[in-house]
Amino acid sequence: MFNRRKFLQSSVFSSLGLALGRKAWANDPGAGHLVTGSPIVISTWDAGIAANKGAWEILGRNGRALDAVEAGVMVTEASQNCCVGLGANPDRDGFVTLDACIMDEFANCGSVAFLERIKHPISVARRVMEKTPHVMLVGIGAQQFAVSEGFPLEEQKLSDGAKNSYENWLRKSEYKPVINIENSKMNTETPKSGPGPFAPSRFDNGEWNHDTIGMVAMDAMGNLSGSCTTSGMGFKMRGRVGDSPIIGAGLFVDNEVGAATATGQGEDVIRMCGTHTVVELMRQGYSPEQACKRAVERIIKIKGDKAKAIQVGFLALNKRGEIGGYAIQKGFSYAVKSDTQEKMVQAGSFY
Ligand code: ASP
Repeated sequence: MFNRRKFLQSSVFSSLGLALGRKAWANDPGAGHLVTGSPIVISTWDAGIAANKGAWEILGRNGRALDAVEAGVMVTEASQNCCVGLGANPDRDGFVTLDACIMDEFANCGSVAFLERIKHPISVARRVMEKTPHVMLVGIGAQQFAVSEGFPLEEQKLSDGAKNSYENWLRKSEYKPVINIENSKMNTETPKSGPGPFAPSRFDNGEWNHDTIGMVAMDAMGNLSGSCTTSGMGFKMRGRVGDSPIIGAGLFVDNEVGAATATGQGEDVIRMCGTHTVVELMRQGYSPEQACKRAVERIIKIKGDKAKAIQVGFLALNKRGEIGGYAIQKGFSYAVKSDTQEKMVQAGSFY
């Protein structure tokens, strides 16, 4: 039985762990961006600026990080975005399918995957967390649950941008989830945002076919939460689900240590439990940036030379309010908002 004595012992050990962890952090030369004591929110890519503003409506009024990360990514889900929400690019059969997950400071988590015709998958994920005994609902079951919770079933219609991109894609209909590095015709012109010139996710017309909004935040109470939402890889196989709705892959939060989110080629994040790995590295004393870098190096180790053809970016926040990101390829950027700053940061990269 977990009695009072054991509770006291475990509290002593966890405070000791925290103290040791802090020492390790303080000694880590990679540590930076310290914003201790005040709320902070960070999120992936340029769309993160608007999403962070949405989150700040809550964080800035001393609201809960969980509410902030839901509200924040809802901004992106509602916008006409190539890669998040119903306006995004479809799968190769022409249907937009959405993945999302959310996690709070108590390790409560909820997730939906392969969800169609629902505008705010992140809110459905939160309902899964709060109203069911489960963590994850997928496909038609997730949709039925959403409708039973009062979410309207939207019309099945591609946005103008997605229709255009899909028509372009259909001209060749080449299904190439991974570039053959030697034979690929890589477009080397630098995009405004996106996973970089070597990513497999680039169309011939210069558009990216995958991106995600991942957001992690700390509130004024020092509690952490995170959210992640995407339409996944554009023109994916019907039924394909990436890392974004998978707890420990696209998102992980441990309120004692930190939180992390991921973007990029989901398959390669799943195979090394990406964000769980980042958080565990922070537990060992690595700064957020160093933890993200180590996780990227693990992907490089697994993939070898094939890593040159993919993009993965990690973004992390620790319990002290330190932040950092790192990616395989150049071009991964993230948005930061706190009391004292609102900016985009270019993450470091392996290549
Ligand atoms: N990680 C997402 C997926 O694989 C896509 C992305 O972030 O670009 O579905």
